[in-house]
Amino acid sequence: MIIIMRPHVTDDEIHGVEAKLKSLGLEANISRGVERTIIGAIGDERKIHKESLQALPGVEDVMRVVKPYKIVAREWHDADTIVDIKGIPLGGKTIQVIGGPCSVETQPQMDLAAQNVAHAGCRLMRGGAFKPRTSPYSFQGKGVEGLKIFRQAADKQNLPIVTELMDVRHLDTFLEYGVEVIQIGTRNMQNFDLLKEVGKTHTPVILKRGLCATISEWLMSAEYIAAGGNHNIILCERGVRSFEKAYRNMLDVTAVPMLKKETHLPVIVDPSHAGGKAWLVPALSKAAIAAGADGLLIEMHPTPCEAWCDADQALAPDELKELMGELQSITQAVGREL
Ligand code: PEP
Ligand code: MN
Repeated sequence: MIIIMRPHVTDDEIHGVEAKLKSLGLEANISRGVERTIIGAIGDERKIHKESLQALPGVEDVMRVVKPYKIVAREWHDADTIVDIKGIPLGGKTIQVIGGPCSVETQPQMDLAAQNVAHAGCRLMRGGAFKPRTSPYSFQGKGVEGLKIFRQAADKQNLPIVTELMDVRHLDTFLEYGVEVIQIGTRNMQNFDLLKEVGKTHTPVILKRGLCATISEWLMSAEYIAAGGNHNIILCERGVRSFEKAYRNMLDVTAVPMLKKETHLPVIVDPSHAGGKAWLVPALSKAAIAAGADGLLIEMHPTPCEAWCDADQALAPDELKELMGELQSITQAVGREL
C-alpha cells in the first residue's frame, strides 16, 4: 500500500501513520520528497481496510499495490486452469458449448432438448429447475421435480448438467442429484453466503457476472468460492446493463481478454442473455470465441415459440447445429478446436 501525505504534513502526522501501520503488522518505509512525503506500507495489505488509513490526520490518499484477490489472480498462478467436468475439460484448447433450454418444463421437452444438444455436438447441457424471475407471478421453475426430469433426460445422452442454484437450502439436493456444474446466476453474484457454501464443495461452479458488476467485484466473488477450497470456477460474461434498449444487455467482449489477463480461470460467454434475441446469438458467439472465450452457454429449445421462459432468445435445434458448424472455422482461426 502507498500512503500519500498532504502538503505541509507534520512529523506527528507521519508518526501517527507509522504507528498505525505497526499496529496492523506492517512496516513503514518513509520517503520525504521536496513537496510530498510518501509512506510505503510493507506486508500483506489484503487484510487492511484502506479506510482505516485514509481517515488518519495528514493522509491525502491511499493506494493499493497488490490485487485484492489472490487465489484467482493470474499473478499468483500463471498457468490456465482447466476445469474437469466428468472428464470434459473446460478451459483448455477445446471450446465447450453448453446448450439447452432456459428452463426445465416437462420430461418430453427435456428428452427432446437433450437429444438435440447431443446431436448438435455439444458435450454439456444447461437448463434451469429453479428460475430467478423478475416477477413473482412468472413461472418460477419446476424445482426439485425439474432436477429429476433434467437428470433423467441428460443421462440418456450422457450429458453432464449445468443448473442454477439460488438458495443454500437446495445445495444438498443438488449434490444428491449429482449436478455436475452449479450455476450461480447474475442476481446472486454477490450472494456471499451462497458463494461460501458452494466454495465448500468440489463441484465446478459457473459464476455469472452481476448486472452491473465490475471485473474486480466479479473476481472478488470468485475469490469467495476459491477461499473455501473450491477452485473449479468458470466465469461467465452474460452482458451488462447499459443505456442501450435495442437489445437485452450489452455483451462486454472486452471483459474476455481482460479476464484472461487478470485470472487463470476459464471464461465463457452467454450470448443468449446478452442479446436477448435468437438472431443475435450466432454473431455474439463468434465474437466471444474470437476474443478468447473458452466456451459458450447457449439457450436452445425444441420449439422456441412454446418456451415457458426466454422464448425470444432460444435457438431452434437446427439453428444450434448450424451454429456449431459455423464456429468450426472461427475456433480454428484462433488456434482452438470445437
Ligand atoms: C440463466 O442462465 O438461466 C439465467 C437466468 O441467466 P442470468 O443469471 O445470466 O440472467
Ligand atoms: Mn434464460
